[in-house]
Amino acid sequence: MKKHNFNAGPSILPREVIEETAKAVLDFNGSGLSILEISHRHKDFQAVIDEAEALFKEVLGVPEGYSVLFLGGGASLQFCMAPMNFLKTKAAYLNTGVWSKKAIKEAKNFGEVVEVASSADTTYNYIPRGYTIPSDVDYFHYTSNNTIYGTEIRQVPDSPVPVICDMSSDIFSTPVDVSKYMCIYGGAQKNLAPAGVTFVVVKNDCVGKVDRVIPTMLNYQTHIDGGSMFNTPPVLPIYSAMLTLRWIKKCGGVKEMERRAIERANLLYGAIDNSPIFRPTIANPADRSRMNICFVMKDEYKELEPDFLKFATEHGMVGVKGHRSVGGFRASCYNAMPLESVQALVDCMHEFEDLHK
Ligand SMILES: *Cc1c(COP(=O)(O)O)cnc(C)c1O
Repeated sequence: MKKHNFNAGPSILPREVIEETAKAVLDFNGSGLSILEISHRHKDFQAVIDEAEALFKEVLGVPEGYSVLFLGGGASLQFCMAPMNFLKTKAAYLNTGVWSKKAIKEAKNFGEVVEVASSADTTYNYIPRGYTIPSDVDYFHYTSNNTIYGTEIRQVPDSPVPVICDMSSDIFSTPVDVSKYMCIYGGAQKNLAPAGVTFVVVKNDCVGKVDRVIPTMLNYQTHIDGGSMFNTPPVLPIYSAMLTLRWIKKCGGVKEMERRAIERANLLYGAIDNSPIFRPTIANPADRSRMNICFVMKDEYKELEPDFLKFATEHGMVGVKGHRSVGGFRASCYNAMPLESVQALVDCMHEFEDLHK
């Protein structure tokens, strides 16, 4: 049976990226060696990381004066690395979910944190609006897509101070005006590559302004100077990232990724909104994520949730169980997700509705 991969992360990648990666594992560039067993200093790998960086800049539209880094440690390390490099005394954070909260916790190790707004009171089921970002802070930090709760901020919030954003789960799914940011980071395992590599886009002239001693490996300057090769980088995930970026470019870039994401989201949210038994967890359409689409069963059908999970699994749906803090269901629809898989999920929901309504 065909599997439809709705995993939240690590997650679906374009089939051709997986096939090309598999080929390089067996024989990299006809060298007779696996990409797993060559030096990261080999000229053929240098060409890979150079192309990955160049394509990243081209596809996202990264302006002059910014560096693109490929690091280890996940987005979770950036929760501490960003404040370590940018927080002098005080920073502002928007709390829209568990990942924001974790970023706030780490920032508090380096200075004062002003939480400008939070949606924690209602299990993070909306995006706060109408808050004020103070002008006496070093930067404003937010999470663009809340992977667990299924909310997304697609407009850069107006900020009087430099902006930092965790874009782990919606990078390359919509155009971004990078010039509005001081730093953008994310784990690559949601939309770009297998787990193991973290991307960081950083404005060069903002680095090196704090007084504290920063350990060499945690200093952005180290990796800007070293071209992400100060130490051994995650070679294989960078290779796959390069292939994914080639694929995005070939498909038509982030504009096309966005068109596909809207098409998928309209199809699935439409089915949820019009369902006799399911309902969305995010009421305001403006707050709904196109990447992680969350839904539950209406109160009167609540006890059917395990049955639907079983039914969906039997029909080839993978990874549709909601995060334990939200319950219900979550269909993660990252860039590589074909519309046919979303249609298959919708068909499956309709079949289940016919059995139970
Ligand atoms: C998955 C995720 C993270 C955590 O990423 P790691 O690479 O596992 O540290 C952080 N932020 C967001 C928005 C995520 O989706």
